[in-house]
Amino acid sequence: MNISFENTQNAFAYKSTKALKSAKLLFGFMGYPKLVQLGTRMVPALLKAGLPIKGIIRNTIFKQFVGGETLAETIPVAQMLAEHNVDVILDYGVEGKEGEENFDHATQVFIDVINHAASQKNIPFISIKVTGLASHELLQTLHEAPRLRSGIHDNEIEQAAWDRVRERMYAICEAAAEKNVGVLVDAEESWIQDPIDRLTMEMMAVFNTQKAVVFNTIQLYRHDRLHFLRISHQIAEAQGFILGLKLVRGAYMEKERAVALEKNRLSPIQISKEATDTDYDEAVRFCMDHIHSTAVIIASHNEQSNLLGAKLLDEMMLPHNHPHVHFSQLYGMSDTITFNLAKEGFNVSKYLPFGPIQDVIPYLMRRAQENTSVSGQTGRELMQLKRELARRKSM
Ligand SMILES: Cc1cc2nc3c(=O)[nH]c(=O)nc-3n(C[C@H](O)[C@H](O)[C@H](O)COP(=O)(O)OP(=O)(O)OC[C@H]3O[C@@H](n4cnc5c(N)ncnc54)[C@H](O)[C@@H]3O)c2cc1C
Repeated sequence: MNISFENTQNAFAYKSTKALKSAKLLFGFMGYPKLVQLGTRMVPALLKAGLPIKGIIRNTIFKQFVGGETLAETIPVAQMLAEHNVDVILDYGVEGKEGEENFDHATQVFIDVINHAASQKNIPFISIKVTGLASHELLQTLHEAPRLRSGIHDNEIEQAAWDRVRERMYAICEAAAEKNVGVLVDAEESWIQDPIDRLTMEMMAVFNTQKAVVFNTIQLYRHDRLHFLRISHQIAEAQGFILGLKLVRGAYMEKERAVALEKNRLSPIQISKEATDTDYDEAVRFCMDHIHSTAVIIASHNEQSNLLGAKLLDEMMLPHNHPHVHFSQLYGMSDTITFNLAKEGFNVSKYLPFGPIQDVIPYLMRRAQENTSVSGQTGRELMQLKRELARRKSM
Protein backbone atom coordinates (compact mmCIF):
# COMPACT_ATOMS: atom_id res chain seq x y z
CA MET A 1 0.00 0.00 0.00
CA ASN A 2 1.35 3.34 -0.99
CA ILE A 3 -0.37 5.85 1.24
CA SER A 4 1.17 8.77 3.07
CA PHE A 5 -0.48 11.41 5.21
CA GLU A 6 2.44 13.78 4.61
CA ASN A 7 1.19 15.24 1.35
CA THR A 8 -0.07 18.72 2.27
CA GLN A 9 -0.51 19.73 -1.36
CA ASN A 10 -3.32 17.16 -1.78
CA ALA A 11 -4.71 17.97 1.65
CA PHE A 12 -5.07 21.71 1.23
CA ALA A 13 -5.67 21.99 -2.52
CA TYR A 14 -9.15 23.33 -1.69
CA LYS A 15 -7.89 26.12 0.57
CA SER A 16 -6.67 29.53 -0.58
CA THR A 17 -3.47 30.85 0.99
CA LYS A 18 -5.56 33.41 2.88
CA ALA A 19 -7.73 30.63 4.33
CA LEU A 20 -4.61 28.69 5.33
CA LYS A 21 -3.25 31.73 7.16
CA SER A 22 -6.55 32.18 9.04
CA ALA A 23 -6.53 28.50 10.04
CA LYS A 24 -2.93 28.83 11.23
CA LEU A 25 -3.89 31.78 13.41
CA LEU A 26 -6.87 29.90 14.89
CA PHE A 27 -4.91 26.72 15.70
CA GLY A 28 -2.13 28.91 17.11
CA PHE A 29 -4.68 30.46 19.48
CA MET A 30 -6.04 27.04 20.44
CA GLY A 31 -2.54 26.02 21.48
CA TYR A 32 -2.94 28.20 24.60
CA PRO A 33 -5.08 26.22 27.10
CA LYS A 34 -5.63 29.26 29.38
CA LEU A 35 -7.03 31.34 26.49
CA VAL A 36 -9.28 28.46 25.37
CA GLN A 37 -10.51 27.95 28.94
CA LEU A 38 -11.37 31.62 29.19
CA GLY A 39 -13.02 31.63 25.75
CA THR A 40 -15.14 28.53 26.37
CA ARG A 41 -16.42 30.08 29.59
CA MET A 42 -17.03 33.58 28.24
CA VAL A 43 -18.40 33.01 24.73
CA PRO A 44 -21.70 31.31 25.77
CA ALA A 45 -22.22 33.97 28.46
CA LEU A 46 -21.47 36.88 26.11
CA LEU A 47 -23.84 35.47 23.48
CA LYS A 48 -26.56 35.03 26.08
CA ALA A 49 -26.07 38.62 27.18
CA GLY A 50 -26.65 39.70 23.55
CA LEU A 51 -23.18 41.12 22.92
CA PRO A 52 -22.36 41.48 19.21
CA ILE A 53 -19.69 38.78 18.96
CA LYS A 54 -21.38 36.59 16.33
CA GLY A 55 -19.40 38.22 13.51
CA ILE A 56 -16.08 37.33 15.15
CA ILE A 57 -17.22 33.74 15.80
CA ARG A 58 -18.57 33.37 12.24
CA ASN A 59 -15.27 34.46 10.67
CA THR A 60 -13.03 32.34 12.88
CA ILE A 61 -13.93 29.11 14.67
CA PHE A 62 -17.36 28.71 12.99
CA LYS A 63 -15.86 29.05 9.50
CA GLN A 64 -13.20 26.46 10.34
CA PHE A 65 -15.45 23.74 11.81
CA VAL A 66 -19.03 24.33 10.58
CA GLY A 67 -20.61 24.08 7.12
CA GLY A 68 -22.99 27.04 7.50
CA GLU A 69 -26.00 28.30 9.41
CA THR A 70 -28.55 26.66 7.09
CA LEU A 71 -28.79 23.49 5.00
CA ALA A 72 -28.55 25.64 1.85
CA GLU A 73 -25.22 27.08 3.02
CA THR A 74 -23.70 23.60 3.25
CA ILE A 75 -24.31 22.92 -0.46
CA PRO A 76 -21.17 24.65 -1.86
CA VAL A 77 -19.03 23.08 0.90
CA ALA A 78 -20.34 19.58 0.08
CA GLN A 79 -19.85 20.22 -3.64
CA MET A 80 -16.27 21.34 -3.09
CA LEU A 81 -15.61 18.13 -1.12
CA ALA A 82 -17.23 16.07 -3.90
CA GLU A 83 -14.71 17.50 -6.38
CA HIS A 84 -12.00 15.79 -4.28
CA ASN A 85 -13.95 12.50 -3.92
CA VAL A 86 -14.69 13.25 -0.28
CA ASP A 87 -18.14 12.36 1.07
CA VAL A 88 -20.13 14.18 3.73
CA ILE A 89 -21.81 13.14 6.96
CA LEU A 90 -24.34 15.91 7.40
CA ASP A 91 -25.04 16.91 10.99
CA TYR A 92 -27.79 19.25 12.17
CA GLY A 93 -25.58 20.46 14.99
CA VAL A 94 -28.16 22.12 17.22
CA GLU A 95 -27.72 20.91 20.81
CA GLY A 96 -29.35 21.35 24.17
CA LYS A 97 -32.89 22.33 23.08
CA GLU A 98 -35.32 20.80 25.53
CA GLY A 99 -39.12 20.42 25.19
CA GLU A 100 -41.49 18.21 23.17
CA GLU A 101 -42.01 20.92 20.55
CA ASN A 102 -38.28 21.22 19.94
CA PHE A 103 -37.93 17.41 19.76
CA ASP A 104 -40.70 17.20 17.12
CA HIS A 105 -39.11 20.08 15.23
CA ALA A 106 -35.69 18.38 15.30
CA THR A 107 -37.26 15.15 14.00
CA GLN A 108 -38.66 17.04 11.01
CA VAL A 109 -35.31 18.75 10.39
CA PHE A 110 -33.53 15.36 10.45
CA ILE A 111 -36.02 14.05 7.86
CA ASP A 112 -35.48 17.17 5.73
CA VAL A 113 -31.73 16.59 5.98
CA ILE A 114 -32.22 12.96 4.85
CA ASN A 115 -34.23 14.13 1.82
CA HIS A 116 -31.55 16.68 1.02
CA ALA A 117 -28.78 14.09 1.43
CA ALA A 118 -30.59 11.74 -0.95
CA SER A 119 -30.65 14.48 -3.59
CA GLN A 120 -26.85 14.99 -3.45
CA LYS A 121 -24.23 12.65 -4.86
CA ASN A 122 -21.79 12.64 -1.93
CA ILE A 123 -23.88 12.61 1.28
CA PRO A 124 -24.27 8.92 2.22
CA PHE A 125 -24.93 9.59 5.94
CA ILE A 126 -26.55 11.97 8.35
CA SER A 127 -25.76 12.12 12.02
CA ILE A 128 -28.21 12.49 14.90
CA LYS A 129 -28.09 12.96 18.65
CA VAL A 130 -30.80 11.28 20.74
CA THR A 131 -30.59 14.30 23.08
CA GLY A 132 -32.15 16.19 20.14
CA LEU A 133 -35.23 13.94 20.41
CA ALA A 134 -35.48 13.24 24.15
CA SER A 135 -35.03 15.15 27.37
CA HIS A 136 -31.73 14.75 29.14
CA GLU A 137 -33.60 14.07 32.37
CA LEU A 138 -35.64 11.24 30.82
CA LEU A 139 -32.52 9.64 29.36
CA GLN A 140 -30.79 9.84 32.72
CA THR A 141 -33.80 8.34 34.53
CA LEU A 142 -33.99 5.51 32.03
CA HIS A 143 -30.26 4.94 32.22
CA GLU A 144 -30.60 4.42 35.95
CA ALA A 145 -33.81 2.34 35.74
CA PRO A 146 -32.84 -1.32 35.51
CA ARG A 147 -36.46 -2.34 35.00
CA LEU A 148 -36.76 -0.31 31.82
CA ARG A 149 -33.53 -1.80 30.58
CA SER A 150 -35.15 -5.21 30.96
CA GLY A 151 -38.14 -3.95 28.96
CA ILE A 152 -40.61 -3.22 31.76
CA HIS A 153 -41.13 0.25 33.16
CA ASP A 154 -43.93 1.16 35.52
CA ASN A 155 -43.92 4.96 35.34
CA GLU A 156 -46.63 5.71 32.80
CA ILE A 157 -45.63 9.32 32.11
CA GLU A 158 -42.02 8.36 31.50
CA GLN A 159 -43.10 5.38 29.43
CA ALA A 160 -45.33 7.62 27.26
CA ALA A 161 -42.48 10.13 26.80
CA TRP A 162 -40.12 7.29 25.83
CA ASP A 163 -42.68 5.93 23.34
CA ARG A 164 -42.71 9.35 21.66
CA VAL A 165 -38.89 9.27 21.46
CA ARG A 166 -39.05 5.82 19.84
CA GLU A 167 -41.65 7.06 17.34
CA ARG A 168 -39.40 10.00 16.42
CA MET A 169 -36.42 7.73 15.99
CA TYR A 170 -38.47 5.24 13.96
CA ALA A 171 -39.71 8.02 11.63
CA ILE A 172 -36.11 9.18 11.02
CA CYS A 173 -34.77 5.66 10.39
CA GLU A 174 -37.72 4.75 8.16
CA ALA A 175 -37.17 7.86 5.99
CA ALA A 176 -33.45 7.07 5.84
CA ALA A 177 -34.03 3.44 4.80
CA GLU A 178 -36.45 4.55 2.11
CA LYS A 179 -33.98 7.12 0.74
CA ASN A 180 -30.92 4.92 1.10
CA VAL A 181 -29.16 7.27 3.52
CA GLY A 182 -27.34 6.00 6.63
CA VAL A 183 -28.17 7.32 10.11
CA LEU A 184 -25.25 7.62 12.53
CA VAL A 185 -26.37 7.89 16.14
CA ASP A 186 -23.83 9.86 18.18
CA ALA A 187 -22.58 8.57 21.53
CA GLU A 188 -22.96 11.00 24.40
CA GLU A 189 -22.18 11.10 28.14
CA SER A 190 -21.93 7.73 29.89
CA TRP A 191 -24.77 8.50 32.34
CA ILE A 192 -27.36 8.71 29.52
CA GLN A 193 -25.86 6.21 27.07
CA ASP A 194 -27.72 2.99 27.95
CA PRO A 195 -31.13 4.02 26.55
CA ILE A 196 -29.39 5.46 23.47
CA ASP A 197 -27.64 2.12 22.85
CA ARG A 198 -30.84 0.20 23.47
CA LEU A 199 -32.90 2.31 21.08
CA THR A 200 -30.22 2.22 18.39
CA MET A 201 -29.94 -1.58 18.58
CA GLU A 202 -33.74 -1.80 18.36
CA MET A 203 -33.69 0.31 15.17
CA MET A 204 -30.86 -1.77 13.69
CA ALA A 205 -32.91 -4.94 14.22
CA VAL A 206 -35.69 -3.36 12.13
CA PHE A 207 -33.76 -1.52 9.43
CA ASN A 208 -30.40 -3.31 9.05
CA THR A 209 -31.61 -6.69 7.81
CA GLN A 210 -30.46 -6.16 4.20
CA LYS A 211 -27.87 -3.41 4.55
CA ALA A 212 -26.50 -1.11 7.25
CA VAL A 213 -28.82 1.87 7.61
CA VAL A 214 -28.48 2.61 11.34
CA PHE A 215 -25.10 2.91 13.09
CA ASN A 216 -24.34 3.07 16.80
CA THR A 217 -21.25 4.87 18.11
CA ILE A 218 -18.67 3.15 20.31
CA GLN A 219 -16.44 5.39 22.47
CA LEU A 220 -13.23 3.46 23.02
CA TYR A 221 -12.02 5.89 25.70
CA ARG A 222 -14.43 3.95 27.92
CA HIS A 223 -12.89 0.79 29.38
CA ASP A 224 -16.13 -1.21 29.01
CA ARG A 225 -16.82 -0.56 25.33
CA LEU A 226 -14.76 -3.23 23.60
CA HIS A 227 -16.75 -5.80 25.56
CA PHE A 228 -19.97 -3.96 24.66
CA LEU A 229 -18.96 -4.07 20.98
CA ARG A 230 -18.50 -7.85 21.13
CA ILE A 231 -21.86 -8.30 22.89
CA SER A 232 -23.56 -6.04 20.31
CA HIS A 233 -22.11 -8.26 17.58
CA GLN A 234 -23.41 -11.42 19.26
CA ILE A 235 -26.90 -9.88 19.45
CA ALA A 236 -26.74 -8.79 15.79
CA GLU A 237 -25.68 -12.30 14.71
CA ALA A 238 -28.40 -13.94 16.80
CA GLN A 239 -31.08 -11.58 15.47
CA GLY A 240 -29.79 -11.61 11.89
CA PHE A 241 -29.01 -7.96 11.25
CA ILE A 242 -25.91 -6.08 10.13
CA LEU A 243 -24.18 -4.27 12.98
CA GLY A 244 -23.50 -0.65 11.97
CA LEU A 245 -20.75 0.96 14.06
CA LYS A 246 -18.97 4.28 14.18
CA LEU A 247 -15.75 3.94 16.19
CA VAL A 248 -14.58 7.04 18.09
CA ARG A 249 -12.26 7.59 21.01
CA GLY A 250 -14.66 10.02 22.70
CA ALA A 251 -15.28 13.71 23.18
CA TYR A 252 -16.29 14.14 26.84
CA MET A 253 -13.20 12.89 28.69
CA GLU A 254 -12.71 15.84 31.09
CA LYS A 255 -16.43 16.01 31.89
CA GLU A 256 -16.63 12.24 32.49
CA ARG A 257 -13.68 12.33 34.86
CA ALA A 258 -15.02 15.38 36.72
CA VAL A 259 -18.49 13.84 37.19
CA ALA A 260 -17.05 10.51 38.34
CA LEU A 261 -14.90 12.34 40.88
CA GLU A 262 -17.79 14.48 42.09
CA LYS A 263 -20.11 11.47 42.49
CA ASN A 264 -17.38 9.31 43.94
CA ARG A 265 -17.82 6.73 41.18
CA LEU A 266 -15.32 4.72 39.21
CA SER A 267 -14.37 6.74 36.14
CA PRO A 268 -15.60 5.12 32.91
CA ILE A 269 -12.46 6.45 31.16
CA GLN A 270 -9.48 4.23 30.42
CA ILE A 271 -6.44 4.61 32.64
CA SER A 272 -4.23 5.96 29.86
CA LYS A 273 -4.19 7.18 26.29
CA GLU A 274 -2.32 3.98 25.36
CA ALA A 275 -5.18 1.87 26.74
CA THR A 276 -7.66 3.89 24.63
CA ASP A 277 -5.48 3.46 21.54
CA THR A 278 -5.12 -0.29 22.11
CA ASP A 279 -8.89 -0.79 22.44
CA TYR A 280 -9.58 1.46 19.45
CA ASP A 281 -7.29 -0.51 17.17
CA GLU A 282 -8.64 -3.79 18.56
CA ALA A 283 -12.16 -2.58 17.70
CA VAL A 284 -11.01 -1.80 14.15
CA ARG A 285 -9.56 -5.32 13.87
CA PHE A 286 -12.72 -6.90 15.27
CA CYS A 287 -14.92 -5.09 12.72
CA MET A 288 -12.62 -6.04 9.85
CA ASP A 289 -12.57 -9.67 11.02
CA HIS A 290 -16.39 -9.66 10.90
CA ILE A 291 -16.71 -7.55 7.78
CA HIS A 292 -19.68 -9.49 6.38
CA SER A 293 -21.87 -8.85 9.39
CA THR A 294 -20.43 -5.47 10.45
CA ALA A 295 -20.26 -2.10 8.72
CA VAL A 296 -17.69 0.23 10.26
CA ILE A 297 -16.88 3.92 10.17
CA ILE A 298 -13.38 4.63 11.42
CA ALA A 299 -14.03 8.12 12.80
CA SER A 300 -10.66 9.37 13.93
CA HIS A 301 -7.85 11.86 13.42
CA ASN A 302 -5.29 9.33 14.57
CA GLU A 303 -2.97 8.48 11.69
CA GLN A 304 -2.11 5.00 13.02
CA SER A 305 -5.77 3.98 13.39
CA ASN A 306 -6.61 5.18 9.88
CA LEU A 307 -3.53 3.45 8.46
CA LEU A 308 -4.52 0.26 10.27
CA GLY A 309 -7.98 0.25 8.64
CA ALA A 310 -6.47 0.92 5.21
CA LYS A 311 -3.76 -1.73 5.68
CA LEU A 312 -6.24 -4.39 6.80
CA LEU A 313 -8.38 -3.78 3.72
CA ASP A 314 -5.32 -4.36 1.53
CA GLU A 315 -4.20 -7.43 3.49
CA MET A 316 -7.66 -8.94 3.11
CA MET A 317 -7.51 -8.06 -0.60
CA LEU A 318 -10.72 -6.11 -0.36
CA PRO A 319 -11.40 -3.07 -2.55
CA HIS A 320 -10.57 0.33 -1.01
CA ASN A 321 -14.20 1.35 -1.47
CA HIS A 322 -15.65 -1.72 0.25
CA PRO A 323 -19.23 -0.71 1.22
CA HIS A 324 -18.71 -1.86 4.82
CA VAL A 325 -15.61 0.27 5.52
CA HIS A 326 -15.67 4.01 5.74
CA PHE A 327 -13.25 6.59 7.19
CA SER A 328 -14.24 9.98 8.57
CA GLN A 329 -12.75 13.12 10.08
CA LEU A 330 -14.39 16.27 11.39
CA TYR A 331 -14.66 19.19 8.96
CA GLY A 332 -11.76 21.55 9.71
CA MET A 333 -9.44 18.85 11.06
CA SER A 334 -6.93 16.35 9.67
CA ASP A 335 -7.24 17.21 6.00
CA THR A 336 -3.98 15.35 5.38
CA ILE A 337 -5.76 12.11 6.34
CA THR A 338 -9.06 12.78 4.54
CA PHE A 339 -7.76 14.00 1.20
CA ASN A 340 -4.91 11.48 0.95
CA LEU A 341 -7.30 8.59 1.71
CA ALA A 342 -9.66 9.97 -0.94
CA LYS A 343 -6.79 10.07 -3.47
CA GLU A 344 -6.24 6.35 -2.86
CA GLY A 345 -9.90 5.57 -3.50
CA PHE A 346 -11.03 4.84 0.08
CA ASN A 347 -14.56 5.76 1.24
CA VAL A 348 -13.85 8.85 3.30
CA SER A 349 -16.01 11.68 4.54
CA LYS A 350 -16.01 14.90 6.48
CA TYR A 351 -18.44 15.18 9.37
CA LEU A 352 -20.09 18.51 8.51
CA PRO A 353 -22.28 20.22 11.10
CA PHE A 354 -24.60 23.12 10.34
CA GLY A 355 -26.90 25.31 12.39
CA PRO A 356 -27.34 28.84 13.75
CA ILE A 357 -24.23 30.14 15.51
CA GLN A 358 -25.76 30.26 19.00
CA ASP A 359 -27.01 26.66 18.67
CA VAL A 360 -23.72 25.08 17.59
CA ILE A 361 -21.71 26.71 20.40
CA PRO A 362 -21.43 23.47 22.46
CA TYR A 363 -19.99 21.72 19.38
CA LEU A 364 -17.53 24.57 18.80
CA MET A 365 -16.45 24.64 22.43
CA ARG A 366 -15.75 20.88 22.25
CA ARG A 367 -13.59 21.43 19.16
CA ALA A 368 -11.66 24.21 20.90
CA GLN A 369 -11.13 22.03 23.98
CA GLU A 370 -10.26 18.97 21.91
CA ASN A 371 -7.62 20.89 20.01
CA THR A 372 -6.12 22.06 23.28
CA SER A 373 -6.42 18.92 25.37
CA VAL A 374 -5.54 16.34 22.75
CA SER A 375 -1.83 16.13 23.10
CA GLY A 376 -0.28 16.73 19.75
CA GLN A 377 -3.45 17.52 17.76
CA THR A 378 -2.96 21.30 17.62
CA GLY A 379 0.72 20.78 16.97
CA ARG A 380 -0.07 18.39 14.14
CA GLU A 381 -2.54 20.75 12.48
CA LEU A 382 -0.23 23.76 12.88
CA MET A 383 2.79 21.93 11.54
CA GLN A 384 0.89 20.81 8.45
CA LEU A 385 -0.53 24.29 7.82
CA LYS A 386 2.93 25.80 8.16
CA ARG A 387 4.44 23.20 5.84
CA GLU A 388 1.87 23.90 3.14
CA LEU A 389 2.30 27.67 3.48
CA ALA A 390 6.08 27.25 3.16
CA ARG A 391 5.63 24.95 0.14
CA ARG A 392 3.43 27.53 -1.61
CA LYS A 393 5.88 30.35 -0.82
CA SER A 394 8.77 28.41 -2.32
CA MET A 395 7.00 27.94 -5.66
C1 LIG B 1 -16.74 11.53 12.26
C2 LIG B 1 -16.63 11.71 13.74
C3 LIG B 1 -17.73 11.46 14.55
C4 LIG B 1 -17.62 11.59 15.93
N1 LIG B 1 -18.69 11.28 16.73
C5 LIG B 1 -18.53 11.28 18.09
C6 LIG B 1 -19.56 10.82 18.93
O1 LIG B 1 -20.63 10.42 18.49
N2 LIG B 1 -19.34 10.85 20.28
C7 LIG B 1 -18.14 11.27 20.83
O2 LIG B 1 -17.99 11.24 22.06
N3 LIG B 1 -17.16 11.72 20.03
C8 LIG B 1 -17.32 11.74 18.69
N4 LIG B 1 -16.31 12.17 17.88
C9 LIG B 1 -15.22 12.97 18.47
C10 LIG B 1 -14.09 12.11 18.80
O3 LIG B 1 -14.42 11.44 19.97
C11 LIG B 1 -12.83 12.93 19.00
O4 LIG B 1 -12.61 13.67 17.83
C12 LIG B 1 -11.72 11.94 19.23
O5 LIG B 1 -11.81 11.44 20.53
C13 LIG B 1 -10.37 12.45 19.00
O6 LIG B 1 -9.55 11.29 18.97
P1 LIG B 1 -8.89 10.69 17.67
O7 LIG B 1 -9.42 9.33 17.39
O8 LIG B 1 -9.02 11.67 16.60
O9 LIG B 1 -7.39 10.39 18.06
P2 LIG B 1 -6.29 10.95 19.02
O10 LIG B 1 -6.03 12.40 18.73
O11 LIG B 1 -5.18 9.98 18.88
O12 LIG B 1 -6.87 10.76 20.49
C14 LIG B 1 -7.38 11.76 21.32
C15 LIG B 1 -8.46 11.13 22.17
O13 LIG B 1 -7.91 10.07 22.97
C16 LIG B 1 -8.59 10.01 24.22
N5 LIG B 1 -7.61 10.28 25.29
C17 LIG B 1 -6.73 11.31 25.35
N6 LIG B 1 -6.00 11.26 26.49
C18 LIG B 1 -6.41 10.18 27.16
C19 LIG B 1 -6.06 9.62 28.41
N7 LIG B 1 -5.12 10.18 29.19
N8 LIG B 1 -6.70 8.51 28.81
C20 LIG B 1 -7.66 7.92 28.06
N9 LIG B 1 -8.03 8.41 26.84
C21 LIG B 1 -7.43 9.52 26.41
C22 LIG B 1 -9.68 11.07 24.17
O14 LIG B 1 -10.86 10.47 23.71
C23 LIG B 1 -9.14 12.06 23.15
O15 LIG B 1 -10.17 12.80 22.53
C24 LIG B 1 -16.39 12.02 16.51
C25 LIG B 1 -15.29 12.24 15.68
C26 LIG B 1 -15.38 12.06 14.33
C27 LIG B 1 -14.16 12.28 13.50
